[in-house]
Amino acid sequence: MKPRSVVILGSTGSIGRSCLDVIRQNPGSFAVRALAAHSNVELLIEQYREFRPEYVCIVDATKAKALAQALASEKVRILVGDSDLVSLAGLPDVDLVVNAIVGAAGLKASLEAVSHQKGLALANKESLVVGGPIFRPMIEQGKATILPIDSEHSAIWQSLLSGKRSEVRDIILTASGGPFRELALERFGAITVEQALAHPTWKMGPKISIDSATMVNKGLEIIEAVTLFSISASKIKVVIHPQSIVHSMVEFQDSSVIAQLSRPDMRLPITYALFWPDRVRSDFGRMDWADVQKLTFEPPDLAKFPLLRLAREVAETGGDIPAVYNAANEIAVEAFLNRQVGFTDIYRVVAETVAQTLPTAEPTVADILAADSEARVKARKSLETVRC
Ligand code: NAD
Ligand code: MG
Repeated sequence: MKPRSVVILGSTGSIGRSCLDVIRQNPGSFAVRALAAHSNVELLIEQYREFRPEYVCIVDATKAKALAQALASEKVRILVGDSDLVSLAGLPDVDLVVNAIVGAAGLKASLEAVSHQKGLALANKESLVVGGPIFRPMIEQGKATILPIDSEHSAIWQSLLSGKRSEVRDIILTASGGPFRELALERFGAITVEQALAHPTWKMGPKISIDSATMVNKGLEIIEAVTLFSISASKIKVVIHPQSIVHSMVEFQDSSVIAQLSRPDMRLPITYALFWPDRVRSDFGRMDWADVQKLTFEPPDLAKFPLLRLAREVAETGGDIPAVYNAANEIAVEAFLNRQVGFTDIYRVVAETVAQTLPTAEPTVADILAADSEARVKARKSLETVRC
């Protein structure tokens, strides 16, 4: 079989590297056409030398010279900046675009990929959160092929194969609960960046690690599921499952619950997305049933994780409000990571920004981008009042 031609956007991140590992373990199955990253030029050069793509792209223009110098004797095309990166998502003769960019910065590349009828292997959940009003009708009309990499959505996608869409009663989204599941609410004010980054079951990039600690990640995943599976937020239940073995479940009308299980390893959902509609032999995340742990489930504590409750309201409001929630969160998380505000300020900033915004019901892409920028301005103002 001809190797699948793949573009990887965000190749230097946690998902990007796992994706390249899957490709490395399956020689002959994929041809890497392009690799793109924001600023980690050293790793991008290393990845170029191993995978020999036709294009490499760096978003941060200050790193372009170093890239060009290192690859001066190579037959590679070097691209620089946001719009060059987006153009890679529409390259002719590419089968799959992997979007492993972090944040709403990934939206344009996702739009470009689907508008060129590429398969979009999507880790960048923010695309579906922010661009829900654009993607949902495309998905419903079969005009977008989106292959989710997010482990929960991969599990739901696989579980949905057990019945018809009209037979689905609920989706049960599992959550590890993050590092503060057992911490008393009174102690949330003193949470440090290091504590928040130390996720108990997954090793991920910094932004999603903080989102897991606040449970905003699960909030974004509710909205992601609404877009991807055309289901109302009220039919998506969240359950805490600290072992991260059951990746999510679908309950059908007859009360049967179908789940997908594995040890937590993102290379498994990546493999499923990259080879879809086939399943290939692979040991990533393979269960050891001789050493099976207890699998436990409990409800989330919404007093400790108020942004999870807010995400549900945001999902129900829809329009451009999910973009506002997401943008405010990105600003607040960045400030927390830079040690400018405390952990609980993230909630304050996101809630204030959402409360200050009137929704636009059927936004265009331009409306969404404007809502995103305005929310960032409001969130920065809100940060000024809490800066420590
Ligand atoms: P990361 O921070 O490790 O990597 C982010 C990648 O995006 C890097 O390659 C970086 O160069 C690139 N990037 C950052 N800003 C960019 C910009 N403005 N333009 C272009 N490229 C940019 O993040 P990650 O943990 O790999 O997460 C990537 C995405 O996958 C996120 O949307 C996250 O929510 C999602 N996701 C991650 C995991 C995980 O296990 N890490 C699991 C599920 C979903
Ligand atoms: Mg997830």
